[in-house]
Amino acid sequence: MKCLLIFAVVWGLLMVLDLPGLRVAAGAQNGWLAGVARVDITPQEPMWLAGYAARDHPAEGTLHPLFVKALALKDGEGHQAVLITSDVLGFPKDMSDRIRGRIEKQFQLSHAQIILSSSHTHSGPVLGDSLRPIYPLDDAQIEMIGRYSPRLEDQVVDCAGQALGSMKPARLFSGNGVTRFAVNRRNNPEAAILDTHDLKGPSDHAAPVLKVAGEDGVLMAVAFGYACHATVLASYQWCGDYPGFAQIELEKAHPGATALFFAGCGADQNALPRRTVSYALQYGRELAAAVERMLSEGMNELSPVLKTEYKEVELALEAPPTREQLAGMVQTYTGYMQRGAQAQLKLLDEGKPLRTSYPYPVQLWRIGDQTLVVLGGEVVVDYALFLKQMLGRETFVLGYCNDLMSYVPSVRVLHEGGYEGATAQLEYGMPTTWADDIESRILNTARELATKAGAPLADSAQK
Ligand SMILES: [Zn+2]
Repeated sequence: MKCLLIFAVVWGLLMVLDLPGLRVAAGAQNGWLAGVARVDITPQEPMWLAGYAARDHPAEGTLHPLFVKALALKDGEGHQAVLITSDVLGFPKDMSDRIRGRIEKQFQLSHAQIILSSSHTHSGPVLGDSLRPIYPLDDAQIEMIGRYSPRLEDQVVDCAGQALGSMKPARLFSGNGVTRFAVNRRNNPEAAILDTHDLKGPSDHAAPVLKVAGEDGVLMAVAFGYACHATVLASYQWCGDYPGFAQIELEKAHPGATALFFAGCGADQNALPRRTVSYALQYGRELAAAVERMLSEGMNELSPVLKTEYKEVELALEAPPTREQLAGMVQTYTGYMQRGAQAQLKLLDEGKPLRTSYPYPVQLWRIGDQTLVVLGGEVVVDYALFLKQMLGRETFVLGYCNDLMSYVPSVRVLHEGGYEGATAQLEYGMPTTWADDIESRILNTARELATKAGAPLADSAQK
């Protein structure tokens, strides 16, 4: 009893004094906590596969299972966050808002503390209303999507909850590996790729790696990324494409560990050549090998301090087409472009205004001294390069997170036009192209969040 009393008095004194040195000691005891979870989301019905307009029938089977995975983190002060990765094309805004809203309510995490990422595999199921104009769906298919999508929302929320509920002491490390199979698809025609010996256009060949080890040093989880479309395959089998194979390879090499893939700014990048399972396996192994090299080297250990920021910035679109212009587009266009123009006309018929701007999600995490910039939509590679210039070469830049609203071109790509700059807008249900200030609005928002989170600006000397 006496001992307890002395301990209580001494502890009370220490708390009252609140010396900086003592705070450091207390922080050192309170290291990271981390938890992982996974759920199999492979469709059990022959649903339509997402991502391509050219498919003409539903799925025929499974090459390997699709997963949602979650990595929950808690820092020394109790601040929590969850990174959710998924073998799907991407979550449309309404699904993502519902999922994040439920996680917010059930587990008291704000939008800033949740990353809902997708691998952008083109061999996963169609979700919600996403990209509807490009798929020739019948009523039975629409019903299957209507059954699958809400169940997936439940599964994602459960998975996040499981990860948050199973956290244990961990050490975190980060670093960037490198592998070079991503090719700028706007500048290097696929048909001539084997005869191309001077690849053109920008790429981001970094393979960012976040390593999570248990107190015993054993690998608990590895979250890794790459900036390249998951479009090696265009078949009728459920498959995670090259990111799926990379995750399988890493989990085979580290039994008991969870491998989670997040897509980078690869909207204008393809793995070339492509279109066979053996190529998807090859690229998956190449990425896994880049991650393995990082795991085997001395990575940067991250102190248990987590900062999370999130903001939706309103991005303007150009003036929408008139009814007459849309009618002309329906006459001139075919396929999904025609269906996209029809969808805009239908909105006018229903008395609804055409969209003139969009609330675009920008997020920033600091895990120790590792900065992650997290963007929505199909982001072209220029953004990764700009953001690394702004925040340092080791920055992780994620795309395809929190909302798959459309392509996100830089000013360069916007002015060049083509699929990623212009024509993909209609298939995503946008009436027209983004306005010229898209790039500055996104980059300024990232800069604002970085400043809030205390991330050092690498380019501040020039500003
Ligand atoms: Zn895409």
